[in-house]
Amino acid sequence: MSPDRAKPSLVVISGPTGSGKTTIAKRLVTELPRAVFSVSHTTRQPRPGEKDGKDYHFITEDAFRKMVDAGEFLEWAAVHGQLYGTHRSEWEKAAAAGLDLILDIDVQGGAQVLASDPSAVLIFILPPSFEEMLSRVTKRRGEKHFDLERRLRTALDELDFAGGYHYNVKNGELRLAVEEVKEILGTAGKKCSPLEEERNELKRKIENWLREKDVQS
Ligand code: 5GP
Repeated sequence: MSPDRAKPSLVVISGPTGSGKTTIAKRLVTELPRAVFSVSHTTRQPRPGEKDGKDYHFITEDAFRKMVDAGEFLEWAAVHGQLYGTHRSEWEKAAAAGLDLILDIDVQGGAQVLASDPSAVLIFILPPSFEEMLSRVTKRRGEKHFDLERRLRTALDELDFAGGYHYNVKNGELRLAVEEVKEILGTAGKKCSPLEEERNELKRKIENWLREKDVQS
């Protein structure tokens, strides 16, 4: 894949819970002069510290469905029981300003973006290990145990999609992962390891964890 880097690109950043993909996406927009963050619409409630219009546009399900019917979303999906979508205007504004648009979205959305624009760049972020992934998620404020189990089940599905992404990047040390993504966007041609073994190992550990959990309950 060799997108024309003179043109602004849609850059999709996806990854399972605890991969640090949102942190990477937000770092990219502060460090790259020609990139902006795509603020999604969602029906979920804001978490403490989140600002409407900055982290998300928080809307009702009714309003969301009307926007879907009007064809206003570039992509949208149900994730963890809530609706999320990228409004077309995010990309229109970025492209008009000659800026890359960084989308922190799930794998269902990533597939839709690629279908609508084959020059989109899809990057999948992996946590360095299952143990680290678990530790990052459980440290998150307000994360209930129920959510953890659901997020891990979603992670299994997401890992299945990762092979279809253009690049896989392991986020062990944040600074290095951000540099690797910047290098991908700068050169858009560097061949990254598909990290298939790492993904399979992660899936195996998540499955074991969920199996043990089922036995206990
Ligand atoms: P959270 O609620 O934790 O912020 O996000 C939950 C999931 O929804 C994450 O995987 C996030 O990347 C994804 N997400 C956020 N915005 C969008 C969007 O506009 N479209 C899609 N398809 N997924 C999104």
